[in-house]
Amino acid sequence: KTSFKSDIEIAQESTMRPIVDIAESIGLKDDDLELYGKYKAKISYEALRNIETNKSGKIILVTSINPTPAGEGKSTVTVGLGDAFKRIGKKAIIAMREPSLGPTMGIKGGATGGGYSQVLPMEDINLHFTGDLHAITTANNALAALLDNHIQQGNDLKIDQRRIVWKRAVDLNDRALRKVIIGLGGPLQGVPREDGFDITVASEIMAVLCLASDLKDLKLRLARMVVAYNVNKEPVTVGDLGVEGALTLLLKDAVKPNLVQTIEHTPALVHGGPFANIAHGCNSVIATRAAAKLADFVITEGGFGADLGAEKFLHIKTRSADIKPEAVVIVATIRALKMHGGVAKSDLAKENVASLTLGFANLQKHIETIKAFGLPVVVAINKFITDTELEVQTLLEWCKREGVHVALTEVWEKGGAGGVELAKTLLSVIEKEENNFQHLYDVSDSLETKVRTIVQKVYGGKDVEFSTKAKKQLLDFEKFGWSHLAICMAKSQYSLTDDPTKLGRPTDFIVNVREFKPSIGAGFIVALTGEVMTMPGLPKKPAALNMDVDETGKALGLF
Ligand code: ADP
Repeated sequence: KTSFKSDIEIAQESTMRPIVDIAESIGLKDDDLELYGKYKAKISYEALRNIETNKSGKIILVTSINPTPAGEGKSTVTVGLGDAFKRIGKKAIIAMREPSLGPTMGIKGGATGGGYSQVLPMEDINLHFTGDLHAITTANNALAALLDNHIQQGNDLKIDQRRIVWKRAVDLNDRALRKVIIGLGGPLQGVPREDGFDITVASEIMAVLCLASDLKDLKLRLARMVVAYNVNKEPVTVGDLGVEGALTLLLKDAVKPNLVQTIEHTPALVHGGPFANIAHGCNSVIATRAAAKLADFVITEGGFGADLGAEKFLHIKTRSADIKPEAVVIVATIRALKMHGGVAKSDLAKENVASLTLGFANLQKHIETIKAFGLPVVVAINKFITDTELEVQTLLEWCKREGVHVALTEVWEKGGAGGVELAKTLLSVIEKEENNFQHLYDVSDSLETKVRTIVQKVYGGKDVEFSTKAKKQLLDFEKFGWSHLAICMAKSQYSLTDDPTKLGRPTDFIVNVREFKPSIGAGFIVALTGEVMTMPGLPKKPAALNMDVDETGKALGLF
């Protein structure tokens, strides 16, 4: 096998087993499944209820250094690590996010791993999969339609049409829809107002679905979502509109986790995919908990780096799901560390030990953060074929000097076999090291204190400054009884600061919070720093230009 096949070529050369066989390997019978063809299934409510009393397996969280355009391969390592656990005879399940079509058609490449560490069928998962994102889009837009109809029909709730915060959604990168005017054409066509579209994964409904523990909790959370403010500037919720039942009904299947398999037939639950900036960036609580009830080890990931996805996993998701990770893997690549040390993307193929050494500082900060949470940590070096021997040795020795556990992983090239060292390191770390998991802030802290704690303890910044608008919002939120909620930071993923150009490990910086956005259904207040994109655009040469399908229905050019 060569290392240069594309992800889709490798995926299509692999043979999948029937999903009922994969299910059987984790103790699920035919009756526990709702089949979506031969290779995809949802787990039924009844099965989810039946496994509740099982003993819980150990959760391993995979995160990374601050991402760079060089790519880190977090999903690839997550999948490969699951396969590696299986290879050493452990019962493992991977729990990861499902992809959004926006980035798929745009730039990112798939979200199903890469090389010989992928989940299958990758074409389906990256396209329409089991329809969860369509259901979420529909629920989002049903709410928008019901809201506008309420206004058209007399506006009993006295909604201030200039203070509607619920937007429409579509699961595509479509910048032309960021700001729109709706309701034009006279009295019969609705009430004209300014509106806008977010990408589906930025919809609060996605975050709500991913944090809900069951259907009942989903409905309660949906009811709490704020859609607008009334003429007295008080929040108007989905519950006030009385449509939480309809929205929950639209989501009744989307809420069930999707079971698929890796190239090496390791079971994977791929379910939910909220943005990691405006939302918390983790797959669903329901999937992670189900995985823990069905296996001895769960390998799961958080979006972007340890400053975003892992922080939110540890502060937000662990609280909603009542779970605790046993250990954290920080994925780093030589290429990305060199970028943090100042190397341009075009020069990454050249050996550069000096810049690599400078770049360690970024990795070091994330290691310190995870240790501050009281969790054992292992660094996984995701090896690229361009990494030189000297560079790899330099990184390994740095970790040794720092007293950090490290494993070289070659899962992209070798599948699970390339992750055995990482899996064994994790087993020994979980067994030997103390786990003193603690949250860095208390929910009872003020919202201001919660933000400051994250800025100082997770980003390593000096302080936080709130705009006049943000300060005023904090006073309102206290009045509305929202002070006890978690904080969800919306910050650039590229830097520990709120300035995407500041790589490495900046110090003495101030983070500016310009505005807050309440996500009351999700249970957090989003703190917006810098520019935050909730509807991305397409690049000059979108990935869609390479896509095609042949006459047999075989997908071509999906990465
Ligand atoms: P992340 O989860 O950090 O966004 P992914 O795991 O999705 O990253 O990987 C992004 C892309 O990089 C994928 O197309 C994958 O095939 C590629 N990739 C990951 N690891 C390697 C590696 N070691 N060598 C070459 N390509 C890799």
